[in-house]
Amino acid sequence: MTAQILDGKALAQAMRLRLRSARQRLGPRPVRLVSVEVGQNPAADVYVRNQQRAAAEVGIEMEVSNLPLGTTEAMLVAAIQDLNRRPEVAGVIVQRPLPIGIDPRAVQSAIDPHKDVEGMHPANMGAILYREPLLPPCTAAAAQHLIVTTGMDLRGAETVVVGHSEIVGKPIAVLLLHHLSTVTVCHVGTRHLADHTRRADILVVAVGKAGLVHGDMIKPGACVVDVGINQGPDGKITGDVHFASAATVAGWLTPVPGGVGPVTVAMLLRNTLRAAGAEV
Ligand code: NAD
Repeated sequence: MTAQILDGKALAQAMRLRLRSARQRLGPRPVRLVSVEVGQNPAADVYVRNQQRAAAEVGIEMEVSNLPLGTTEAMLVAAIQDLNRRPEVAGVIVQRPLPIGIDPRAVQSAIDPHKDVEGMHPANMGAILYREPLLPPCTAAAAQHLIVTTGMDLRGAETVVVGHSEIVGKPIAVLLLHHLSTVTVCHVGTRHLADHTRRADILVVAVGKAGLVHGDMIKPGACVVDVGINQGPDGKITGDVHFASAATVAGWLTPVPGGVGPVTVAMLLRNTLRAAGAEV
């Protein structure tokens, strides 16, 4: 079998078109997304440029605030509180990784939950337990959206999520549970990972280890969503799933790059418009 490729780029492009119309319906008032970064991080800079390009296409102004290295947690929190007070700022994102000594959870919690467009404030994280949150975590929402577009029946589907981080694995598991799929979460403590992955009708891998999941660990016809982003020594980006072997077994497969990543950015923009009051 040759897997159908779940084209995240095309899906994100279609989403941006819809988001652009929703933005226009909001009228001429500014809708601003502010990205806060401490120090220079080349990887984050690439990510920010992608976000800026996508935001411009939708009609969202994106402001980039670069705070110098040496910025303390208290200074960063004060900068966020200032953004919380500015009415034209619909959304605030904090680029990671943050320098050692700054607690990402404290920083995320300082963002007004109504402006937390990454959906990672404890209030928004908690809200996903109640089915349809206004601002869901973007990567989890992207993985869910990609799976739903296959049209497969999620009810009763065996779903395995590999990775149990707060920002990716756990929220994906919860969102897929809402579809009444039977969710197993695997992680660093899991024994015999392949015994679980081989049962999965839906397999989501979010670990950060290149090629962790090979084709022989996948059930024929399964929907495989690869969240991982790994940079090889040659600078090449690959996922957590060994693409060539997986493509001969899976029914659907997301590529890396061009799968979950672009849809995650589109979800960020959707959340920004929702935070600005758009129904989208
Ligand atoms: P993390 O380091 O916080 O979590 C890694 C998870 O993998 C943990 O739950 C750990 O238990 C599990 N794990 C580690 N080794 C394992 C093994 N051998 N078998 C099974 N489980 C194992 O990482 P994260 O922040 O959740 O990110 C995961 C990956 O997703 C990374 O590659 C990251 O770059 C990527 N990511 C992609 C997007 C996107 O938009 N595409 C967004 C966020 C993160």
